[in-house]
Amino acid sequence: MWNYILDSVITPEGEHARITVEDATFLYENAPLEALMKVARKVRRIHNPDEIITYLVDRNVNYTNICTINCQFCSFYRPPGHKEVYTQSIDQISARIGELEAIGGSRVLMQGGVNPELGMEYYTDLLQALVQRHPKIALDCFSPIEIEGIADVTGLETKEVLRQLKDAGLHGLPGGGAEMLVDDVRLNISPKKGSAENWLRVMSEAQDLKLTTSATNVFGFGEEPKHRVEHMEKIRTLQDESIQRNGDGFTSFISWPVQLENNSFGRRNRGANRLELGAGPMEYLRQVAVSRIFFDNIVHIQASWPTMGLDVAQIAIDAGADDIGSTMMEENVVSASGTTKVLASESELQRTIIRSGHHPKKRDSDYNLLTTTIPDFEPMPTPVPVKP
Ligand code: SF4
Repeated sequence: MWNYILDSVITPEGEHARITVEDATFLYENAPLEALMKVARKVRRIHNPDEIITYLVDRNVNYTNICTINCQFCSFYRPPGHKEVYTQSIDQISARIGELEAIGGSRVLMQGGVNPELGMEYYTDLLQALVQRHPKIALDCFSPIEIEGIADVTGLETKEVLRQLKDAGLHGLPGGGAEMLVDDVRLNISPKKGSAENWLRVMSEAQDLKLTTSATNVFGFGEEPKHRVEHMEKIRTLQDESIQRNGDGFTSFISWPVQLENNSFGRRNRGANRLELGAGPMEYLRQVAVSRIFFDNIVHIQASWPTMGLDVAQIAIDAGADDIGSTMMEENVVSASGTTKVLASESELQRTIIRSGHHPKKRDSDYNLLTTTIPDFEPMPTPVPVKP
């Protein structure tokens, strides 16, 4: 049965056919990993025909750790009044972006907690100052839950918040906070974060305003494969709607397993020997391959080196990913729950791509290809032959 479904993924004309939720769930549960990866590689070549794998030189900025949402998988946030709270100033953030410019970066990804102490002026003053000081840097800032937090503080509708932020210089929204767009799962891990519908609505509003958006999926909370596919289906449906209204939608889909160190979610399950929590490399690659096969309307699938390491991210290219992510320079949210590698140099990303048998290309936030310089002082490996 699984081989019949896989045979139907690519039409005789070489096009990527849409598979149903039921078929995707069946593949997730039953198809051998190598068979999934082989078809996912072929699908990647339909959407990205050259043997090019992209990367982004960017930096993360986590501008405040004050948050009232208390997600159980998060070790980054501190509640208001805690002695370890911080909120960065315009000058502090600008200095960080200066470091990004020095290495040829093109995008800052700025996310923080839902901070009830910050009014609209903090965000608009910040964006206006950063646009003025760093006009070549795309500002992808504030995930949907932060937009909702600003709406709560200001009394504005989320779409109006987005409109004002865009006017101040916002380029796009990070895809964070989607986690698992299945309300039963969300209620269990993050009851104050609101329904899946909220995340989808804010993203839809951002897309209507022509802000750049991406979609994410954190998995491994003990959910079943059908829930992971349900998450993908909600994003695929929104993508259809956005393409119909706006001509495009999410640039990419990125998934990674929940980290289980140092957070309430991990602690409350520790000792229970629940092997279904988190995910190892094989399960992660299965998720990447199924997502590449499932999304006929999203062009790019990104590998996640911060949670899986560069070696597994390299194999994710063989599972259908066409982008290896970004340099990041710092990461404080996911790493607080257990990852150890929080930055990658441009040459590390290039090397990882070349070792997979592909050509590295630098891109910007919108996946436009940029001039790519491979340092000649650092010998690069010979590419291995590309797999069929
Ligand atoms: S994941 Fe984000 S929203 Fe949730 S507690 Fe952490 S900072 Fe707050």
